[in-house]
Amino acid sequence: MLTKCALCGGDIRPGKVEKVIRIENNVVIVSVDAEVCQQCGEAYYTPKTVEKLQEMRKKLKEVIKIEELCIPTGQTYLYKKEIEA
Ligand SMILES: [Zn+2]
Repeated sequence: MLTKCALCGGDIRPGKVEKVIRIENNVVIVSVDAEVCQQCGEAYYTPKTVEKLQEMRKKLKEVIKIEELCIPTGQTYLYKKEIEA
């Protein structure tokens, strides 16, 4: 298990992150256990978690109505303009 962030060298602690999964036009937010960098917020998942996320993504693609597995929680909006440098 990692103890330091591979990106910034910050401390990593167990925590929860909200992962955004996009299924076509729908956006699903799922709460996931992860090891989270306290400095930059980068999340590291165990192989088991990655597997579960893949399973979940597969299930979401199979369901006809997203409401079968999810509850609506607010709207997701796409910002009209691109943010350019
Ligand atoms: Zn970091």
